[in-house]
Amino acid sequence: MEKVSRKIDMVDLVGQYDKIKHEVDAAISEVINSSKFINGPEVKMFQAELEEYLGVKHVIPCANGTDALQIAVMAANLVPGDEVITPNFTFAATVEVVAFLGITPVFVDVDPNTFNMDIAALEKAITPKTKAIIPVHLFGQCADMEPIIAIAKKHNLLIIEDTAQAIGSTYTFSDGSKKKSGTMGQIGTTSFFPSKNLGCYGDGGALFTNDDDLAQKCRMIANHGQRVQYSYEILGINSRLDSIQAAVLRVKLKHLDKYTKARQAVAAYYDNAFQGHSKIKTPGRHPNSDHVFHQYTLTLNGVDRAKLKEALAARDIPAMIYYPSPLHSQKAYLNERSMNTEFPVTEHLCAHVLSLPMHTELDEATLSYITETVLELVK
Ligand SMILES: *Cc1c(COP(=O)(O)O)cnc(C)c1O
Repeated sequence: MEKVSRKIDMVDLVGQYDKIKHEVDAAISEVINSSKFINGPEVKMFQAELEEYLGVKHVIPCANGTDALQIAVMAANLVPGDEVITPNFTFAATVEVVAFLGITPVFVDVDPNTFNMDIAALEKAITPKTKAIIPVHLFGQCADMEPIIAIAKKHNLLIIEDTAQAIGSTYTFSDGSKKKSGTMGQIGTTSFFPSKNLGCYGDGGALFTNDDDLAQKCRMIANHGQRVQYSYEILGINSRLDSIQAAVLRVKLKHLDKYTKARQAVAAYYDNAFQGHSKIKTPGRHPNSDHVFHQYTLTLNGVDRAKLKEALAARDIPAMIYYPSPLHSQKAYLNERSMNTEFPVTEHLCAHVLSLPMHTELDEATLSYITETVLELVK
């Protein structure tokens, strides 16, 4: 098989930049020339454009996706002893901010097909102390929000959606109505980390809400607890999206739908290549969500994953394990609740998943090289 000339990366931000260089460079230059680096007009314009794109009333920009989660949890008025339910199979930030604020993270197992929060496990985890649910739209696909919203309503729980990996994905409810990820619960949070589907050239994040009071509270928390300058009404933090990042995001938001289509085309190529393979399970799709493929994640069966990863690397094909260990067993997050719970699906996934290169610049020659190599190595 033909080896491709260009280096294969998990994410190719250089190739992506090459195509929008003139737009991005001009936008960055404008900020530098104005020297309005903090709270410049680009931040407000990006905010308005993202509100329009998502169909949400308020976007509150902040410094990164972890801060967005922290601000959301701070805005929820929780006290130590309260419980917040999160999936066990996710990036640690979701859990970290909950534990950091002295609130108890309660983990639930995930669905082996979609990798998202298991609805039966969620219901079982609810106690009188439960105050909020943080569904994570993992790898680019919405968690099953209709039943999650019904459960939250029944138990009077707040929903904070972590859509750091799924910006732009859409969920369809049984009445046919559609909503963008991050706009279905009371608060949504996202990250603009460079490798995310909508990434800037540094750190960035945002919160989304349709609730005016929550929006104001999140804005205040992100700005030292101030509504009026030098008047500190509540405890806050300092968390800003800077103007240069907002300028880059304004350019990239215009291309987001095209980038999503490029990712979906890569996923379709992989799906087709691995279809029906006895040892390679392609990522499952939930019928009510589309998938924006932040990651394309295989579940291997009867394959020595470490050996495969090494053999791929020797052929210049990177592959990554998202995520290698369940959060409940991490030393920093150990608690009694999770020590007494079993997470067979998360445990299985952590031992068997492998993510392949996924980005907006993969061409057919590269995809053919990657898939043929995988198929040759997994007999
Ligand atoms: C990336 C990510 C975050 C954190 O975002 P940062 O901008 O890196 O702080 C939170 N949750 C999930 C699911 C993520 O993938």
